[in-house]
Formats: sequence, structure tokens, C-alpha cells
Amino acid sequence: MKLKTIFTGALTALSVAIAPVNLFAWSEHPLLAYPVLSSIADLVNRKPVEAQSLKSFLVKEEKGLAEMLRNYEVWARLNLPNYALRPDALEFTYTGNEADIVNRFLSAIRLNPNVKLKLYLHLLPIQQAGNRKTIDPAELTTLKDVSSLTHTIYVALTEGELVHPLDVLCTANDEPDYGFDLGLFEDNNTDYGKTYGFGVQPFGDPKLEYGSQAPFHMGFYHEAKLVYRFGPFLKKTYPEYRISLFKALSEYAFATGNDYWGWRFMGWGMHYLGDLSMPYHTAPLPGMSAARMIWINLKAILGFPKSKNNAVQLVSNKHSVLEQFQWLALRDAYSHYESSPIIKSLSEEPVVVPYSNEFARNVASLESVNRSRKVEKALVEFCPPLLVNDPKFEASKSKELDNLMEEIRRYKGDEAINQLTATLIEMLRSYSSNIRSYYQAIAPKG
Ligand SMILES: [Zn+2]
Repeated sequence: MKLKTIFTGALTALSVAIAPVNLFAWSEHPLLAYPVLSSIADLVNRKPVEAQSLKSFLVKEEKGLAEMLRNYEVWARLNLPNYALRPDALEFTYTGNEADIVNRFLSAIRLNPNVKLKLYLHLLPIQQAGNRKTIDPAELTTLKDVSSLTHTIYVALTEGELVHPLDVLCTANDEPDYGFDLGLFEDNNTDYGKTYGFGVQPFGDPKLEYGSQAPFHMGFYHEAKLVYRFGPFLKKTYPEYRISLFKALSEYAFATGNDYWGWRFMGWGMHYLGDLSMPYHTAPLPGMSAARMIWINLKAILGFPKSKNNAVQLVSNKHSVLEQFQWLALRDAYSHYESSPIIKSLSEEPVVVPYSNEFARNVASLESVNRSRKVEKALVEFCPPLLVNDPKFEASKSKELDNLMEEIRRYKGDEAINQLTATLIEMLRSYSSNIRSYYQAIAPKG
């Protein structure tokens, strides 16, 4: 019993520090989603749909949504492992009150009630705003630090305006990173976090603006039994909840003729499924054995925290490097879109495993975990040691990370870029296959 207490304490100590900074998984999801989705003829050939505000949708569908969400809750309690029950007080019931309907809905699906959910489109580097009105990113996200969004042009839509489903889907693919899952835990100093039923934040740094979304965008489903036994908090990850909830909402919206929301909810679900193809979102310490994880934590609890702190810093740095490499590589790919091997890897039809309730866990995450050691090795081999092998260095927001491609080239030449691109392409093929599976499961017959 005593030993177990020590281990539990040790792993809990580790928990606070996992993934302290970088929690986007893939940066700018629409860059990845567009080549995949624009290659699906069934989608491209669809007719435009009318943009509809969330409030109009909710007012129109209040009764039906109340029933749908009640059924979803029953289903989730039966089918989602480690589901955090939605407290009864948050149930979405039919009241006919339009004034608070958006808030009641956001509480029922346990999203940050401050989310903006404007009608807008996220433009790709190959798209132009033309004479459409652009929107400041601060109007789209609840984050105070909007630096990650300032490279993108956003344009406003008006209610009733016709918009293509492909554009709605691509735009929605980025939206969950705009504050959906911030402040949802009871120790996040928010009013709503105290009522949502998710308990205290299981990992990620609750003091950081971005920290609290981690358990919704990461899924640790394939750790060794021993690791869960001594660190049960690692089971408290919720992407399966988001993926299944947005699937159910999307299907409801399509079935009731609210196609705009059918596509937008589908895009939200794709975001979470897409995150799981990033190995740093499916393993707490990728590439590290269970025995070593427990050992370095035992040492930490006995007063020797250096190994643990170093391991956490290195994982955090490698996570940052992979994200930055992906973002720079994708932005570059858009400058020669037609000939880019990265774009080709996303737009080529991959093998698609049919979607099921276990897909996120047993297909998407499993594949990602199985690849994590290889990804980790490639980063260590081809990136400068300062960025991936120096625990005294903080990679995020460093000038070395800003100039990552130049740093890699200087270290090991173009061959290193090619090798890392090949590794990225492997992950992107999985990403492509996963979101196609979700699409096929939900999209109504065209
Ligand atoms: Zn995410």
C-alpha cells in the first residue's frame, strides 16, 4: 500500500508538468484538412448551404436537441470508458427562452461559455479575401495571445449567405483550438469549471492560458497497465467524448435540414480526431518505457527530480519542434501546391478503416502510439541537439524554433529536411485516413 502511495504521488507530480506549453497538436488544422477534403468528390460536388447562426439553429431545434442530448448522455454513460458524467443540472431542456438558449446549450455540451462562434471562413494561403470583410482573430478566439492566428486571413459571413460545405468544414477544423476547452476543470478559477463535472485538471499546467485544454485534445489510451494503476489520472482524457458528441450533433443537424451546422459540427469532431494522429498527443512521454517512467518519478519523489524534470522538458521541446516543422513544411507546401509531396500525401486516397465507436482509441490513437518511438528517433537524429536534446533549453518561442528549417539545414543539410518530411508524411497519411473515415460515417448521401 505504501509503495503504491509513493508511486501515485510520483506520477501525480509528473502529471502537472506533462505538456506544459504546446498543446495545439497540429498547427493550423485547415492546412492539413483542405488537401484531404478537397479530394473527396462526394463533398466537392455538393451544393452550397446557407450560413446559420448558432442561436437560429438552437431556437429552431430546441425541442429536438433536448431529446437528442438526453439520448447522447445515456449512450455516453454506457459506451465511453472513463466518461465524466454530465451533471443533471446542466441538462438542455425545452424552455422556449431564447435569451439564454446559447448559454444553456454550451453548458449542456460543456464548452467554454465565452466561445465566440461567429459566422466566418478561415482562408488558406491559396485563397484571397477579395472584397469580403476581414475579421480580427481576437473576435474569433477567447485567447488573449492571438499570435498563432495572425498569419491567417479570416473573412466574415452573414446569416443566410451561401457557402460551400468544403469551406465550412475546413474552417471548423481549426475552431476547437480557439478556446472551446479552456477553463473546464474545477481548479481553473472559472465559474463554469466548478459546475462541469470534470473534477480537478488531471495534467497540463492549470496556470497557463492554454494549459487546461490538454486533456480534451490528448488521449492516453495505450499505456502499460502498471502506469494506469499508479497514475489513474492518465485515464482522464476526453477526445472520445468530443468526437462522439460532435458526430451526434452533426447527424442531428443533417437529419433536420440544418446542413450548415451539420458540416460545422463535423469539422469540430474532425479536429479532435486529427489531433490523435500526432504522437505527442497520444503518449505522455513518447518513446519512454513504463519502467523508466516510474523509475524517474520514484527518484523525483525521493528528492532527486533532475531526471524527471529533464525528461519533461525534452518531451516538451520535441513536441514544439514537431509542431513547428509541420507548420513551416505545410506553409511551404502551399507555395507549390500542385507539386508538393506533402499535399500529394494528403490528397491521395489512403486505406480507410470504417468508423466505429472504438475508432479514436483503437485505430487512430493506437497507430499514433506505435509510431511515436520512430518519430522521436527522427527528431533526435535530424534536429540540432540544442532543440531536442538539451533539457536546459526552452524551445518554445525561441529564435532557433522560429528559424527551424535553417537550423536543421545548417546541422545536417537538405537530407535531414527530407528525412523529417518523410516522417511527417507518414503521420499525415494517418491523419488523412482518420478524417475520411469520420466523413464517410457522418455525411448524408449526396
Ligand atoms: Zn487540438
